[in-house]
Amino acid sequence: MLKKLFRKFLAPDSNDTVGASAPTLISAKTHQLDNGYFSRNSVQVAKRLQEAGFQAYLVGGCVRDSLLGLRPKDFDVATSATPEQISSLFRNSRIIGRRFKLVHIHFGREIIETATFRGSHDDTGKNNDRSAHNDKGRILRDNVYGSLDDDALRRDFTINALYYDVSSHNIIDYAQGVQDIKDGLIRLIGDPSQRYLEDPVRMLRAIRFAAKLGFTLEAKTAEPIRQLAHLLKDIPAARLYEEVLKLFMNGKALKTYELLQEYNLFAPLFPETAHIIASGSQYASEIVRSALKNTDERISANKPVTPAFLFAALLWPGVPVRTTDIQNQGIPAFEASQEASHWVLHNQLKHTAIPKRFSIPMREIWSLQERLTRRQGKRADVLLAHPRFRAAYDFLLLRESAGEQTTGLGQWWTEYQFADDAKKRSMIKEVANQSGTKRKRTKHAPRQRKPRTHTNTEN
Ligand code: ATP
Ligand code: MG
Repeated sequence: MLKKLFRKFLAPDSNDTVGASAPTLISAKTHQLDNGYFSRNSVQVAKRLQEAGFQAYLVGGCVRDSLLGLRPKDFDVATSATPEQISSLFRNSRIIGRRFKLVHIHFGREIIETATFRGSHDDTGKNNDRSAHNDKGRILRDNVYGSLDDDALRRDFTINALYYDVSSHNIIDYAQGVQDIKDGLIRLIGDPSQRYLEDPVRMLRAIRFAAKLGFTLEAKTAEPIRQLAHLLKDIPAARLYEEVLKLFMNGKALKTYELLQEYNLFAPLFPETAHIIASGSQYASEIVRSALKNTDERISANKPVTPAFLFAALLWPGVPVRTTDIQNQGIPAFEASQEASHWVLHNQLKHTAIPKRFSIPMREIWSLQERLTRRQGKRADVLLAHPRFRAAYDFLLLRESAGEQTTGLGQWWTEYQFADDAKKRSMIKEVANQSGTKRKRTKHAPRQRKPRTHTNTEN
C-alpha cells in the first residue's frame, strides 16, 4: 500500500498545488487517508471546533505516521481557538502548561492534545507577557498566537508540518513535508542553528525521528548538532527525563543510542556513563547496548518495559567505578556500593529527573546485585520471594552478557528457580562448602577507615 501511496505522491494531481508561495493542498484522492486513520475522538474534537466556527486540523505525528502506514502514538489537534475558547467547548478539558499553554481533552484514557496556532515572536516588546527568550535565544515562553501559516513555520520538521482537514480530507503541506517523507529526510523548517538555539530539544527530536522512521538527517539539519549539543545542559531535568523515555522506549532504542553518540548528544544526558564509555570501557558500552537491545526486543514482543530497569542499566557503569573509589578509601564493599549508588543517582538528577517511583526500584535492582551472591541458609529462598527478584536476576544476566565475570552466578540462579527442594538443598550446600573454604582463606583484620572525599546528600 505504501508503494502505491508514494507513486501517487510522485505524480500529484496538477490541481493539488495552490500557487507558488502558498502551501500545497493534497487531496484525499492522492494521499488516500480518510478519517478512519485517526482516532474517533480526535476527529470529533476537530469537527466540534470547526462547527463552532474555528479552524481545526489534525497535525504532526499522527498525519506523518498515518502516511507512512504506522500507528500514531497520539493525536494532536491545532486550532485557531484560544485555550479558553477550546476549554469552554469541551467540559472534559483542562488547560495545561505555562511555557507552552495547551488544552488536554480527556476521553477515558485517551487525551487529545489541542493547541492554538502559534505565531512568530516579534521584537517590539508587544508580546512580552506571552513570549520570552533567554540570552542564548532559547524560547522560555511560547504563547503568542497566530494564523495557520504562522503555526506551520513554528513547527520543527517539515514532516511534522502536515495538517489534515477532517471535513475536506485534504492535507495541507507547508514545507514539502510529503516529499521529505517520500525521500526519508528529517529537515528542520527555517535556519537550523537558530531553531536549535530556540529549543535545543529539537536536536533530540531529530535523532528520535531518524531512528524511529529509519530516515536520514538532511545535511543542513545535521550540521550544527555536534557544536550545539552542549545546550541541552540548560534544559530542565524534568523535560529531559520525558525526552529520554521517548528516545529509548520507542522500539528503536539501540539505533537511537548510536545516533545520539554519533552526534555528541548522549553525554549531556548521561555524563557519567558517557565519560566511562569514552575512556574506553568495553563493559560500560556493552551493558548499555545490551539493555537497549533487550528493551527493543521486549517492545517488539509486546512485553512491558519499565524506566526503572532502563535507568538502572544506563547509569550502572558509574556504580562499580564509584564503588571501587570508595572502597579504596577503606569502606567495606556493601557500604561502598550503597554510597556509590546514591552518588550516581544524585549526580544524574542534575541532568534528567527520575521520579521516585522509578529511582527507588532502580536502586533496589542495584543493591540486590550484591545480595544475589549471598545464597546460604534461607537467603536464596528469601531473595526468590522478593518482589524485585526477577528484575534483579535479569539485571545480573545483563551484566554477564556485557562480559562481567560472576563465576556462573546467573546460571546458578537460572537453575535454582526451577530446581525441586532436594536439588535446592544440594545447591545451597555446595555454595556453603565453597564459601567456607573461601572464608578460611580470606580472614583478616578489619580495615582502617579513611576519611571520604565525596559528598553524601540524600535525594
Ligand atoms: P510522536 O507523538 O510520535 O512522538 P510528534 O511529531 O507527534 O511525534 P509531539 O511531541 O507529539 O511529536 O508533537 C506534536 C507536534 O508538535 C509535532 O509533530 C510538531 O509539529 C510540534 N512540535 C513538538 N515539539 C516541538 C518543538 N520542540 N518545536 C517545534 N515544534 C514542535
Ligand atoms: Mg504526537
